Amino acid sequence: MTSTGVTPTLSLIVPIYNEEAMIDELRARLLPVLEPIGSFEVILINDGSKDRSADMLDALSAADDRFIAVHFSRNFGHQAAVTAGLHESKGECAVIIDADLQDPPEMINEMMAKWRQGFDVVYAQRRERAGESRMKKGTAFLYYRTLRALTEVEVPQDSGDFCLLDRKVIDVLNSMPERNRYVRGLRAWVGFRQTSVQFDRAERFAGETKYPFRKMIKLAFDGIFSLSKAPLRLSIYFGILCAALSFLLGIFFIVERLTGHPGLVRGWASLMVVVLFLGGIQLICLGAIGEYIGRTYDEAKQRPFYIIARKSSRR
Ligand code: UDP
Ligand code: MG
Repeated sequence: MTSTGVTPTLSLIVPIYNEEAMIDELRARLLPVLEPIGSFEVILINDGSKDRSADMLDALSAADDRFIAVHFSRNFGHQAAVTAGLHESKGECAVIIDADLQDPPEMINEMMAKWRQGFDVVYAQRRERAGESRMKKGTAFLYYRTLRALTEVEVPQDSGDFCLLDRKVIDVLNSMPERNRYVRGLRAWVGFRQTSVQFDRAERFAGETKYPFRKMIKLAFDGIFSLSKAPLRLSIYFGILCAALSFLLGIFFIVERLTGHPGLVRGWASLMVVVLFLGGIQLICLGAIGEYIGRTYDEAKQRPFYIIARKSSRR
């Protein structure tokens, strides 16, 4: 059905990293939703899995040519996998969905209905998140609100990468060359007619999260640093704060001198606090600047965001 020349209505993009426990169930849950759509393709991006995922995906695409397996040369990360899926997709619209069925495939119908009404971006917003730790929910809550405060872009609260994109949005995203991509941020940044659908996020069907703390921090940083220059202003704010504090301290010393209480010569502790406080602030500001320089360096190198080792499909 995806033979050359025919444009499928829907491209479904599924990033896969060590999801051997999911693949059969994923296919079983997807087909009843996709079959009625008629013409579709499922692009499975194997992000350097170390388990049996690669073989299972090859078998799947050999048995059914609507399933296309794209294998990365190593693990490049979830956002790179989604980006590759968008590059590979041929559909009039695309839906990005996690492999672990936390994003219910049945929502695709609702998203496509909105798309048919004329919306270009339909993103899913979580009402409830089952089976996720209080820590993850709490940090996500704080993070999305911080991001909103720091950026001019209206990044919707509590929505991940589960979304539908119209072809014209996909083409715009594909033409953007930046690395360290934060897809949900870029999606908000491009504009067009956007709307949301609400859903309750299910528990992971099988296996465990492929997002360890380290990857979560990278994603969080990519969001802030790719959408905002606010951290660069940190040093100005800290500078003003310190100047104001030292001014007040100066007045305090003058008053103390005039009233005849030269008392503050003691104070190893207070000196240490001031030195460490200023040292900390300087390191934070340096780190923020370094983060932007590092990202500029990444762009300057012009390396690809991912490398495809092979594809198993008939096109
Ligand atoms: N994933 C990926 N590369 C990675 C990490 C994750 O392609 O390096 C995929 C993973 O297989 C899943 C999706 O990204 O389809 C979301 O990952 P996960 O469900 O582990 O994240 P969580 O829901 O715990 O945030
Ligand atoms: Mg998940």
